[in-house]
Amino acid sequence: MDLALSPDELAFRDEIRTWISGNLPDGWGGPNHREPKTLEERLEVARDWERRLAAGGYSGISWPKEFGGAGLSLMQQVIFHEEMALARAPQISVNFVGINLSGPTIRIYGNDEQRARYLPPILTMEEIWCQGFSEPNAGSDLANVQTRAVIDGDEFVLNGQKVWTSYAHIADWCLVLCRTDPKAPKHKGLSYVIVDMKTPGVDARPLRQITGDAEFNEVFFTDVRVPRENLLGELGMGWTYANTTLAHERGPAFLAHQIRFRNYLKDLIEQAKTRTRDGVALSKHPAFRERIAASYAEVEVMRAVGLRMVTGILKNGRPGLEASMAKLYWSEMVRRMNLLALQMEGMAGLLYGEDSPREGRWHDGYLSSFAQTIAAGSSEIQKNIIAERILGMPRGEVWAPKPKEPA
Ligand SMILES: Cc1cc2nc3c(=O)[nH]c(=O)nc-3n(C[C@H](O)[C@H](O)[C@H](O)COP(=O)(O)OP(=O)(O)OC[C@H]3O[C@@H](n4cnc5c(N)ncnc54)[C@H](O)[C@@H]3O)c2cc1C
Repeated sequence: MDLALSPDELAFRDEIRTWISGNLPDGWGGPNHREPKTLEERLEVARDWERRLAAGGYSGISWPKEFGGAGLSLMQQVIFHEEMALARAPQISVNFVGINLSGPTIRIYGNDEQRARYLPPILTMEEIWCQGFSEPNAGSDLANVQTRAVIDGDEFVLNGQKVWTSYAHIADWCLVLCRTDPKAPKHKGLSYVIVDMKTPGVDARPLRQITGDAEFNEVFFTDVRVPRENLLGELGMGWTYANTTLAHERGPAFLAHQIRFRNYLKDLIEQAKTRTRDGVALSKHPAFRERIAASYAEVEVMRAVGLRMVTGILKNGRPGLEASMAKLYWSEMVRRMNLLALQMEGMAGLLYGEDSPREGRWHDGYLSSFAQTIAAGSSEIQKNIIAERILGMPRGEVWAPKPKEPA
């Protein structure tokens, strides 16, 4: 694994740095910067930032040039994400699904008309996408999707319910995984349909989260009529296509997390120098010093895990099983780090919003860290994958002590 930057990559890094310094929104970049409080304000910042990226030619960095993307190499993408994180650029992404999930899937399986219609407005950020996979009884067990699409003349008629659909309430389009053949085996009767979110019968209802924000939704489809030409690829191939979409969910953007966590850790260490407990600075207090050092080590391990994943992609063209290790590691680690930060605040850590010492930053971080252990495959599912496919443990067998023989 040689990840030293070549002269060309160093030149690219400088180019990105220059671009960021000339384009970062006012007030962003410093350790004391506070993100806007409400989701609406944060979305506005994100939209503005994504428009700037698009204007600079950096919105589809992983997309091939023939589809209007920047066509960056994997290492260039890693550099791009790391520089963004180092500069503490806005990280909320309104069109994550369009750029990273729907766009690449349409590029691979869509026909020429679909590519021409849907791809350009994703890159310019004019159209926002959401991902209609999860349902009340289909999350980890995604193949259990029950939303039905019945062919009626030139249209599909869609009925069912999705849940946890991020940004569905502001999205223009939804890539819906639905059942088109209820008689076929579970994995075979699924298809992919592109749904205009403004069609009559589509009802997106935001769900309020523990942080108070409401960025994901329940989406109800009641007799929604979708033109047949909105079928992506072939009928009944939804499961295969969905797996392609999911493979794009954990890409090199992951490496940027590690830099962002390093930034948080830096802030946390600064805080530990000035806050005291029992008359001692937290940085010297035995109850905190060791945990801060452990957090430092964890961020370093995370970088190594991330680089291992990049090496896997360089060798095999797509993330391998390391992606599960990386996802499990960082999502659990960030929860520990946020909890430490919150406990460093003492009783004040219980306060929320403007009353709290850091305007609720760690409070929010801790509460939302739970979502990360569920999104894109829960920790338990990652552990199953690691156990079965990396460690070779038996599939689906639960260990239990043997009943004792009667004496
Ligand atoms: C922030 C966030 C954003 C999301 N955005 C979207 C989106 O835009 N579009 C979308 O379609 N979905 C989205 N999701 C949904 C996400 O994909 C699901 O929440 C996830 O797949 C888990 O499914 P579930 O919630 O139905 O939980 P379930 O699958 O019902 O699981 C419940 C619990 O059981 C455990 N469990 C389940 N099966 C097993 C097993 N075999 N072995 C051991 N334990 C098991 C799980 O780990 C979990 O703890 C989002 C979720 C979050 C948190």
